[in-house]
Amino acid sequence: METFYQELEKVMTLAARQLYHRYRIQARLKVKDMPFLMGQGLYLDSENLKSDDYIAQVIKHGTLSIGFIGLAEALICLTGQHHGEDPSAQRLGLEIVSFMRKMTDNFCDEYDLNYTLLATPAEGLSGRFVTIDRRRFGVISGVTDREYYTNSFHVPVHYEISTFDKIRIEGPYHRLTNAGHISYVELQSPPIHNLEAYEAILRQMAISDMGYAGINFPIDECLSCFHHGIMEDECPSCGSTQIRRIRRITGYLSTVDRFNDAKQAELRDRVKHQM
Ligand SMILES: [Zn+2]
Repeated sequence: METFYQELEKVMTLAARQLYHRYRIQARLKVKDMPFLMGQGLYLDSENLKSDDYIAQVIKHGTLSIGFIGLAEALICLTGQHHGEDPSAQRLGLEIVSFMRKMTDNFCDEYDLNYTLLATPAEGLSGRFVTIDRRRFGVISGVTDREYYTNSFHVPVHYEISTFDKIRIEGPYHRLTNAGHISYVELQSPPIHNLEAYEAILRQMAISDMGYAGINFPIDECLSCFHHGIMEDECPSCGSTQIRRIRRITGYLSTVDRFNDAKQAELRDRVKHQM
């Protein structure tokens, strides 16, 4: 554990330095380099700057965020189980993310800038990192044996868990990740005829201290007759196989074919959460 925390501290310090380096480069830009954002006074305090002024004094209002993916895989490495499976892994998960948050808070004092901790969805990185790690460490069960790392602090998408347990476990991480976070649950079908269940899920999200949450469900649309619903291979109304499948995976509603390979693999693995 000591080695783990030392390594974590090392990469976070590196990330903080990299963000500061980028900030200093951006700070050398002038208002006239960003005529829309700064020139039109859209950015906080930029309305007081002139065209030849540096933007340094206003972009200090921005945030420098350090994100993470794969808490679940890290916990499996450290304890053999992830936080959805074992309460002591959950305690360790909260300890690790609290440690990371404390580090970003300390960077705020050290650099006098707004460092924050981000629960990253990692659209490209989730596939890239696992490929790099598999090359280096081989195929490790539960860690590098899929095409993607689990988002941020999420319970792995393929793990069978109830809606309420998932919400209860992920909730406490929201307060720690002050740059942004989201949790979601996957429903079997659109909940249009079960508003009580929908409300119960929302209330559980609220009492579990979630800042931002989503309730996902599939929507298929027949491109021939525009029938909506859940369809296997053909439209139950007209028999057409021209079906548009809309899913929510990286925070946006999109048709399935637009996701990258890692995210398509994640979508395939996602289990539906039972009430
Ligand atoms: Zn149809």
